[in-house]
Amino acid sequence: MDLSRTASPKPTSRKLLAWYDRERRDLLWRTAPGVQAEPYRVWLSEVMLQQTTVTAVTPYFEKFLGLWPSLAALASASRDEVLTTWAGLGYYSRARNLHACARVLVDEHGGMFPQTEKELLKLPGVGAYTAAAIAAIAFNERAAVVDGNVERVMTRQFALGTPLPKVKAEVKALTEMLVPKARPGDFAQAMMDLGATICTPRSPDCPNCPWASSCKALASDDVTRFPVKAPKKEKPTRRGIVFWVETAGGEVLIEQRPETGLLAAMWQFPTDKWAEVSARTAFAEKARAKSAPLEANWSRVPGLVTHTFTHFHLELTVYQTRVETRVNPDRGQFVKRRQLEKYALPSLMQKVAGHVAGA
Ligand code: SF4
Repeated sequence: MDLSRTASPKPTSRKLLAWYDRERRDLLWRTAPGVQAEPYRVWLSEVMLQQTTVTAVTPYFEKFLGLWPSLAALASASRDEVLTTWAGLGYYSRARNLHACARVLVDEHGGMFPQTEKELLKLPGVGAYTAAAIAAIAFNERAAVVDGNVERVMTRQFALGTPLPKVKAEVKALTEMLVPKARPGDFAQAMMDLGATICTPRSPDCPNCPWASSCKALASDDVTRFPVKAPKKEKPTRRGIVFWVETAGGEVLIEQRPETGLLAAMWQFPTDKWAEVSARTAFAEKARAKSAPLEANWSRVPGLVTHTFTHFHLELTVYQTRVETRVNPDRGQFVKRRQLEKYALPSLMQKVAGHVAGA
């Protein structure tokens, strides 16, 4: 790619690193300047940080490190323990992959991380972003780390008009050209900080940006046009029923989801198969009778539980029943209500429990 078509002066790693040395965020998983980062901490934090914020991740990072201070400790935990500790952070496949990856590293790599982006990419759940981040931050490889923050900074710097996600290849190539030989890890973290604190989506603080003089979007006074987004597809709405069964002794019926697919292997209150059906037909008596975990007198909890996943919106109607003694359900198991926190319940199911409690 030809950098000569860009504004002059060009963005330089020197300017960015000087800014980073003054303004870097003090994050729990970061080491002091000049101190080599531990790959375990870098990996854990980067996996957690995908799709969410530093504020949301910080308590989870602390909790994970408290329970499993090393890769070996995490590998020896059960998958359920890891999922339960992850509950609330969303995108649960990351927790399953985290656990699977820890086991692969211990079983096949002597408990050590491979040191190159190429080798890191072969690990379960380690995608392009995480591999580059570990290689750069923990092993000083000249890897270009590109996340949403970096995409925003780079599309603005170079006024790249190609819409996302097609522009990603261009961003990666341009970033590769800017990564310095010395301090590639700091460069990666500086880019993340710049995107998170200065070059923010809606109101970038251009006067305090170390790359303002080279920014083509700023020169054309059109910063928030970038990154250009492809028109969004409407998310469909799926509907379903969730069954709340409570015994007189304060136990609640839960079941484990299948091993694969959405929210794989997590726990839930029994539900039917969520489908794209009209609101009118969704909760027909017949459908409800077919998917209920036991025969009982069901009453509908007023209102709906709504949740949005990456690819669809969900509306759940809650039906509840109270059984006097412990009955034998067709599926699932009863657990004490106060012990629910020991099970990996996704946020959606926590909403269901809150909905019932508030009814
Ligand atoms: S000058 Fe403004 S738009 Fe350009 S990179 Fe800096 S903060 Fe972002």
